Amino acid sequence: MSAPLARPSILSIEAYAPGESKVPGVNRIIKLSSNEGAFGPPPAAMQAFITTATELHRYPDGGSTKLRDAIGARFGLDPARIICGAGSDELLLHLIMAFGGEGTELVMSAHGFVMYDITGRYAGCQVIKVPERNLLADVDAMLAAVGPRTKLVCLANPNNPTGALLPRAEVQRLRAGLRDDVLLVLDAAYAEYVTDADYDAGATLVDAGTNTVMTRTFSKIFGMGGLRVGWAYLPANIADIVNRVRGPFNVNLPAQAAAVAALAEPGWVERSVAHNAEWRGKLGGALEAMGVKVWPSHGNFILADFATAERAKAADAALRGRGLIVRAMAAYDLPHCLRITIGTAEECQLVTDALQADAAWRAGGAV
Ligand SMILES: *Cc1c(COP(=O)(O)O)cnc(C)c1O
Repeated sequence: MSAPLARPSILSIEAYAPGESKVPGVNRIIKLSSNEGAFGPPPAAMQAFITTATELHRYPDGGSTKLRDAIGARFGLDPARIICGAGSDELLLHLIMAFGGEGTELVMSAHGFVMYDITGRYAGCQVIKVPERNLLADVDAMLAAVGPRTKLVCLANPNNPTGALLPRAEVQRLRAGLRDDVLLVLDAAYAEYVTDADYDAGATLVDAGTNTVMTRTFSKIFGMGGLRVGWAYLPANIADIVNRVRGPFNVNLPAQAAAVAALAEPGWVERSVAHNAEWRGKLGGALEAMGVKVWPSHGNFILADFATAERAKAADAALRGRGLIVRAMAAYDLPHCLRITIGTAEECQLVTDALQADAAWRAGGAV
């Protein structure tokens, strides 16, 4: 008997493991494993979602016109060069499939977002993971890793899961050092959370050439991961390619309506940024006071470094015992770390309390 065989490169892919949401035997679960935002969806987005119920028999606007106009107005960008997608993951997929392929290379940093690896292999690319320096993407090493077959360089800035931010000048230096025919994908899923003045999410480089793309999402600060809405800002030549291959109705009707409403919710981003900065600092400080290293983060999560995989596992178990689900980091080659989403004040406090109450994790393995 023989069965259909997928292309060999696909068998090298480990399926993406989403943040978990259940612990057997625990009633109250607090999910801090997917960076979903501390406040749930914006109320105006929920209302808009409900309002679309009577229109569900209609196909959505295939061009996401109102949403692109609203994004353009909000961020000062040309709507004609914005493309919306079913999450930014969908847009990353099209970019990597369209520009990668067998015989090409995709370059990313060693602890970069795992979807570049998965999608790159799907496209048939050889994925090159470049060592970082102190958990920060190393521009010189990335440029040195680029060869004649390199078609794509993918960089999350801020990076998930490390939280690291590459300053504006370093991103510019990366672009300047790449050949013009290499597509640079700047994934700015956490852009709204950044308070550092020395940051450009990518729009300047998109406008400056024909070969840089910025991706963004409604899944993080706008709390709409369940609806799947992301967007990209692209040079016209790259937008033309993605518009040829994307699904004609890729962003569904309630999602478009809710995202437009989310952008109009007064004070949502400001309140989220302020809460995040306050509790990222408080939670990080509490962990450091317990002897856990916390890597500097510019997103709505922290990377807690327990020094050994055994201690990280034991800490994870202590948290789980109280229904607190965080993200294990073995898939990112950081088995000694846990990534913890900044939740509400109470949720952050519960994380601290759990680790203070259960001393067992401290003994888990030698430090
Ligand atoms: C969450 C995340 C995404 C994916 O977001 P969606 O828009 O929900 O597909 C992309 N990149 C990074 C770095 C992320 O953390």
